[in-house]
Amino acid sequence: MSRPALIVHGGAGPVPVAERPQRQAAVERALAAGWALIGSGALAAAVAAVRHLEDEPLLNAGIGACLNLEGDVELDAGVMEGSLLRAGGVGAVRDVRHPIDLAMEVMKDGRHVLLVGDGASRFARSHGVELCDPSTFIIDRERQQHGAEGDTVGAVARDSEGHLAVAVSTGGVHNKWPGRIGDSPIPGAGMFADDRFGAVCGTGQGEAFMRLGLARLMVIELEHGMDPAAVANGAIALLESAMHAVGGVIVVGREGSPQAAFNTPAMPFAVAE
Ligand code: ASP
Repeated sequence: MSRPALIVHGGAGPVPVAERPQRQAAVERALAAGWALIGSGALAAAVAAVRHLEDEPLLNAGIGACLNLEGDVELDAGVMEGSLLRAGGVGAVRDVRHPIDLAMEVMKDGRHVLLVGDGASRFARSHGVELCDPSTFIIDRERQQHGAEGDTVGAVARDSEGHLAVAVSTGGVHNKWPGRIGDSPIPGAGMFADDRFGAVCGTGQGEAFMRLGLARLMVIELEHGMDPAAVANGAIALLESAMHAVGGVIVVGREGSPQAAFNTPAMPFAVAE
């Protein structure tokens, strides 16, 4: 038996101080949505938390996500479960109501790990995943153009059977080139889960996470016996020293409390255990 745990974050991006309490409240609502499902397993809990956050307009995922250079929303999401190292991700989708649902379908289907763009939308249609008009994600064009970067959402969970899972969803970075995909849906870059060692999720400049293979590196450090707090802090130190980048990470080890670290002024996160 393991002690269940869930940690949810709402991104480490620069946001007005006045908005921080609302973002923290959104993360806490997501924590409650996820924790309610922890009895159904780590994967169910992590996905439920992220699915909730895709509907929180202040955060950079789903509704309210940041805009690309052409003023469109293109969404990435990913999921990984640590028992069989199964993973699923979607990138640059415009018309999928809950990108995290589609990432789950990609993982369950099992043929591929990452689907993008129109092909991902066609896969959604053929697997009964809800589609929507792309305008659904735009509610405040001015704010989404300038303010939504860095509020990617993610969750990492451990259930009573010791299974670990991670889920993540994002609009990426604002003014990104159309078709740009970040680290979030890529196992080993923005997320990784392995029941034997731990599970992690990142937020911040995705290109830096990809170049460092940061999520995989963190799990290797857990494998080598580093404690989760040291792994989280070390990841942020490396992000800063090697890439001059900013961001945040959350970590759940095989045991112990979830950990978070970031090198920006704030990263809303919440923990249940
Ligand atoms: N990592 C995300 C990306 O680069 C953005 C973020 O977490 O703020 O797509």
